[in-house]
Amino acid sequence: MYPCRKTREKLLLGPGPSPVESRVLRAMAEPTLGHLDGDFVALMDETQRLLRKTFATENPLTVTMPGTGSAGMEAACVNVIERGDQVIIADHGVFGRRMQEVAERCGAVVIKVSAPFGQALPEEELIETIRRHPEAKLVGVVHAETSTGVLQNLDRIAPVVHDAGMLFLVDAVTSLGGMEVPVDRLGLDIVYSGSQKCLGCPPGLAPLTLSPRAVKAVQERKTKVQSWYLDLTMIMRYWGEERFYHHTAPINMLYAFNEALRIIDEEGLHRRWDRHRRNAEALWAGLEAMGLALPVAKEHRLPSLTCLSLPEGIDDGQLRRELMERYSIEVGAGLGELKGKVIRIGLMGSGSTANNVIFFLSALGTTLNRMGWKTDVGAALETADERFRD
Ligand SMILES: *Cc1c(COP(=O)(O)O)cnc(C)c1O
Repeated sequence: MYPCRKTREKLLLGPGPSPVESRVLRAMAEPTLGHLDGDFVALMDETQRLLRKTFATENPLTVTMPGTGSAGMEAACVNVIERGDQVIIADHGVFGRRMQEVAERCGAVVIKVSAPFGQALPEEELIETIRRHPEAKLVGVVHAETSTGVLQNLDRIAPVVHDAGMLFLVDAVTSLGGMEVPVDRLGLDIVYSGSQKCLGCPPGLAPLTLSPRAVKAVQERKTKVQSWYLDLTMIMRYWGEERFYHHTAPINMLYAFNEALRIIDEEGLHRRWDRHRRNAEALWAGLEAMGLALPVAKEHRLPSLTCLSLPEGIDDGQLRRELMERYSIEVGAGLGELKGKVIRIGLMGSGSTANNVIFFLSALGTTLNRMGWKTDVGAALETADERFRD
């Protein structure tokens, strides 16, 4: 009935996973090797080199953890936190709250600084909190809050964290590969991400990098890392010269990840960031031309994920169902306090294209019209298209 509908191929414009290029899927289908095989070890080395480039870091300890982004969060927390440690973790959405919960489960005393959904962190309050708790071990922040589409600038916070002698823990799950993650520029100490957002790989790996200061903190622990599986003191020996057996690497996932990093390297980081920015700006212009509202102020918007307020009378479940049934487009529902009030549109990795912006705007506009919320789809398309002309 709808000719654009293919059996399994759907356009992933939600909060992740993002579309995976066929090159990456083909790499995944290559024959499985032993996890200590020379050819596989060479692929690990190349992956590590490309991952350092993607993180823009010289950190020797730069690896991928088995598991999704949350495994990266868990690994980051469990390796540096010891029972009874004080930590300061800020939240401006669901993922900051998850980081607080993970730190609590590691036995930390968590000092919280919060922002309302849709806003960036109150930087003055966070800085004041850091000054008032000089004994805290680390400060944790989500760089790109996927639940709200808010980007947290780290430039002012990082020097305060370091002046206080604390470690800076940053969630870069939805920023790495889609915009600058200033690992070495700001000296971020523990940074993790996920393979399936702006890196363009299927879900299953969590890239992680630690500064030499963070490595020292892990090595100087008084107690063993509570999790055997996520213990970096052992995992770094597997990724290092020694190739000490710890766990069986997810071999074929690493083939895919290596290929995804090669694609990023071929495009170039700056060009990739510019592409994400440009397509997001065209999307925002088109949505606003339709008369729709974006709840996040423009200077705090993420290029990889846009939160869109639903107009009065538009049911979020019905809208997402129609986009899927008629156009095979997946977008995300609102999370937490935004549930039912917004949809979340991801333009991540190879999903961030001009064609996807134009297609999405026309599908959304047509659907809203059919649902009784009248808007001028043609004008929105022209507004977005103008952004691609210069
Ligand atoms: C997706 C996401 C996570 C969790 O990653 P999973 O791969 O779903 O485990 C953590 N933080 C942020 C900011 C995310 O967007």
